[in-house]
Amino acid sequence: MDSASLREFLENTHLNNAEAKRRRLTLYFISYIGGFIMAALAVQNLARGDHYLAFWLGFFSFSVFANAALSHIFKNSNIFYYIAGFVVAVMVAVITITGGYNNTGLHFVYPIILIQIIIVRFRAAIFYVTGTVVVVAFIVYNQESIPANYRGEDVSRFLIALGCFIVVAFISEYFWHKSRKEMMTDNLEKLRQANSDPLTKVPNRRFLESVYFERAMKNPADYFPLSVVVVDIDYFKKINDNYGHDVGDKVLIKLATLMKKAIRSTDVVSRTGGEEFLILYPKTSLSVAVKLAEKIRVEIEKSPYTEGDIHHSITASFGVATALTDININAAIKLADEHLYEAKGAGRNRVM
Ligand code: GH3
Ligand code: MG
Ligand code: MG
Repeated sequence: MDSASLREFLENTHLNNAEAKRRRLTLYFISYIGGFIMAALAVQNLARGDHYLAFWLGFFSFSVFANAALSHIFKNSNIFYYIAGFVVAVMVAVITITGGYNNTGLHFVYPIILIQIIIVRFRAAIFYVTGTVVVVAFIVYNQESIPANYRGEDVSRFLIALGCFIVVAFISEYFWHKSRKEMMTDNLEKLRQANSDPLTKVPNRRFLESVYFERAMKNPADYFPLSVVVVDIDYFKKINDNYGHDVGDKVLIKLATLMKKAIRSTDVVSRTGGEEFLILYPKTSLSVAVKLAEKIRVEIEKSPYTEGDIHHSITASFGVATALTDININAAIKLADEHLYEAKGAGRNRVM
């Protein structure tokens, strides 16, 4: 996992979730409150004897409720925002055509257009709102064939006021989005830093515990069997003692890079301690993980550290274990640690 995919992983896990939730809750609130108000108005108009208006209000109330209910069921689909935006557009057209109560319907176009902008969001809203306004303008300038009857000066004032309203709404939307995006980028960078090791740039223990394992537990089918490989460099202290701490650091970077290159994009190399790494292989059996660890062991053995006069061969010891389900993660790591200890005891530079 490189830093771009770490970023993406964190973004999907934390930030996009918050945004998707905000958007969904907005849709529910607007739909249920708006649906309820329209249902109440439908009943009122029915009592007044305006069956035509009552029918349309009832129809929109039902559409809005049905759309919100469906979006409850299909939580991952964005289509309901666009359907809601479309229902709103039809609502505006119907209000304009019927004129609402005594030709006062146009007043309701303002809040409804605002709802459209909020629900469909900036870019798509440009098309939705433009389309809706063009339809409204067409209707009010061709009044001969509709039931509503607007005065000429009302129509022109309405369109000018609506235009101003829309411009202000979009300016506010635009800057809100811009600042939100900046905040997201900032947050993401902080999250990335908190979840990765500054020296080798690979994810750290915190990432595993607070992000990766949590995600694995939520989507067990994508992760288990999860094989864990604990890697510990052999006699690393000697490298520090012989060549200095800086060279030790460079060896750590070199090994982290080597391991990152040796894994699939879905696997993770993380630095869990001084000269200790943990590799995670999702959807990988124990026997396959042992083979993959052996491949990395040979690779490390074949890649001595060379710089100027320094030529130092490096080896590492490996402990492997597999968690079959989420409740076994900690036990598997503990077992892999025990296997590592055995590998050290048996002479190092080996996989157990
Ligand atoms: P073994 O084969 O038993 O693992 O021996 P070892 O020398 O590798 O293990 P030991 O635990 O005795 O020493 C680990 C050393 O790693 C000690 C510590 O100074 C060094 N170390 C830990 N973190 C860093 C680091 O970030 N940079 C450098 N250069 N050295 C580090
Ligand atoms: Mg160690
Ligand atoms: Mg060591």
